[in-house]
Amino acid sequence: MAVILSISPHVDDAVLSAGGTIDALIQAGHQVEIVTVFAGDYEAPLSEVAATYHAEWGITNDAVAVRCREDDRAIAVLGASSTRLRFLDAIYRKDDTGNWLIQQLSDTETVGIKSQQIILAQITDAIRNVLQAKKPDLLLGPSGLGRHVDHLLTSQAIRNLAVEQQLATLFWEDIPYVQWDTLPPCGLFTSLYLPLSEGNITQKILAAQFYASQKDMLWWNNPRGWNTIRDIAVSRANAGDNTGLAEVFWSLAQAPASINVLQALLS
Ligand SMILES: [Zn+2]
Repeated sequence: MAVILSISPHVDDAVLSAGGTIDALIQAGHQVEIVTVFAGDYEAPLSEVAATYHAEWGITNDAVAVRCREDDRAIAVLGASSTRLRFLDAIYRKDDTGNWLIQQLSDTETVGIKSQQIILAQITDAIRNVLQAKKPDLLLGPSGLGRHVDHLLTSQAIRNLAVEQQLATLFWEDIPYVQWDTLPPCGLFTSLYLPLSEGNITQKILAAQFYASQKDMLWWNNPRGWNTIRDIAVSRANAGDNTGLAEVFWSLAQAPASINVLQALLS
């Protein structure tokens, strides 16, 4: 039995982006632990942006606790385990001058990580501690498609650790962002179009539906709703010149052997 750590920026990302692969790994007898980075609780008062998000999610109080409970149920469906780090989501963070980091909704995708070096070092240290405790055979994490600052921070921390510790590491295509951001992720080179079964994608959708507060934000007015997850799996298989269903992963140029590690775990 291998140990796979799946490093998720927010409480829904690992399931949404790699839930089919996580299901396949667990079905193959491996242990998958989802480590969520930005699961820290905020203190009032909220910024206008955070209040807007909470309203959109239909959550008036204890948004982090509500989202963690959704996550517990989703992760239980897949049979994974869970660890949460207590970094604050970007919408609850302040910058060096004491102003809200995210002043308007679009800032999450434009602020970038240059000004975020202190928290990047803290996240890298925290994930390093988890790696030392769990000694994973494979690390999964976000590519950073969509350029959400928290996804970029998580991706960069994992890239640093993958090189530092010579760890087999693969980067998923961030959902929902992959629907409009399909360029190869910056700094990642070799891709794997991992074929998945109907059962894997069905389990992924069953799990994802527990993130009920996120439904409107994830799928806007798309009448396909949660079935969009299956549509994306079809489109990713097609992008790899395959029929069927797939999730796509990227590896660092320095470590293309990571793809062999995942394939061997599922063979
Ligand atoms: Zn996210």
